[in-house]
Amino acid sequence: GDFAEYTSAVSLAGVVEDCLVLVDHVLSKGHIDVKCTLGDAPFVQADPGELQQVVVNLVMNAAQAMGHDGTLELRLEAQERNGQAGVRLTVADTGPGIPEDKIGSVFDPFFTTKQAEGTGLGLSISQALVQRAGGLITVRNRDEGGAAFDIWLPAADEAE
Ligand code: ADP
Ligand code: MG
Repeated sequence: GDFAEYTSAVSLAGVVEDCLVLVDHVLSKGHIDVKCTLGDAPFVQADPGELQQVVVNLVMNAAQAMGHDGTLELRLEAQERNGQAGVRLTVADTGPGIPEDKIGSVFDPFFTTKQAEGTGLGLSISQALVQRAGGLITVRNRDEGGAAFDIWLPAADEAE
């Protein structure tokens, strides 16, 4: 389809680094520490602007959930899924987490718990973009508190 015309082999580590530059003022204003572990991971086949949008959405949600004084954790590593090479990016925070009765709804369009500036579209768009790149996005609450979003994307075909 047309999608392939806008994609290229992209370093997700580079995308994460670009996103951190974009949101740096938000994180430093909130005194949010960043723990970023970018391991060796294969490139993915995607639209780099779309991947950036996904990561910024997740980081902004994490920052908003924590408010002040938290730790944002970003971890990138190579991970196979069903025998297919790929990468996993985890975006985790030390905020309140997501109530169990709401965690099944966070990817629904227009689902928001925010009073004013929430559109409820960030995660539904992010899910669509990840799926377009052949991947998946999941959410969980961490044992130690806070929410974590995991993105898995297939590795770019090395022949391309
Ligand atoms: P919005 O940010 O506009 O509310 P999103 O689709 O980005 O819309 O997120 C939907 C909802 O999911 C949020 O309103 C919030 O209730 C929940 N959510 C998303 N990320 C987190 C997070 N890191 N911690 C806690 N709740 C979250
Ligand atoms: Mg959002």
